Amino acid sequence: MKCPHCTVEFHDEWEVLGTRIEDIDGRWVVRMTTCSRCQRYVLKLQHTAPADEWSVTSETLIRPRTSTRPPISDDVKDAFAEEYGEAALILGDSPKASAALSRRCLQRLLREKAGVKPSNLFDEIGEVLDKLPSHLAESVDAIRNIGNFAAHPNKSESTGEIVDVEPGEAEWLLDVLDGLFDFYFVQPSESTRRREALNEKLKDAGKPEML
Ligand SMILES: [Zn+2]
Repeated sequence: MKCPHCTVEFHDEWEVLGTRIEDIDGRWVVRMTTCSRCQRYVLKLQHTAPADEWSVTSETLIRPRTSTRPPISDDVKDAFAEEYGEAALILGDSPKASAALSRRCLQRLLREKAGVKPSNLFDEIGEVLDKLPSHLAESVDAIRNIGNFAAHPNKSESTGEIVDVEPGEAEWLLDVLDGLFDFYFVQPSESTRRREALNEKLKDAGKPEML
């Protein structure tokens, strides 16, 4: 199976933890396996019911709680990665809460990394558009339309507030954050790594380094 912690494939061998317990709804068992790569436990709660002749009726992953989003790069600054991670984790349970976290994260990113003048999110998005590559600018701009900011001014005035979301809005916000993280964190870090690697080679060859 693919490890839900580190996403690397490993050969899973499951064992039952403790004893099987039973209540009015059926029998409950916690099963575990250990990832051979990252050494973390994966835990599942298995349910069987008499009505189904004690066949497995459900199996829920209880550790780790995971999001369905691909993991983000280590280059993304912790504070942003953490907020994005929370928004991704609760996407399925509460798109409204997820979108509120994403909007707040987006606003902070625009202020800290894009250097926009603090205002409301609608205007801040307007200010950043000509500083971004066009495909990314279009995606960021679409947040205002998909979220119907005109009808929901709080999304712009008070970004972290939990308000109704339009279909697909919460996912879109996460997609846009992915793109902005790539632009503001991953690409600059990769370029630094490439330059450092080149400088190593130049140094070995006794040539002057690039700045
Ligand atoms: Zn693992």
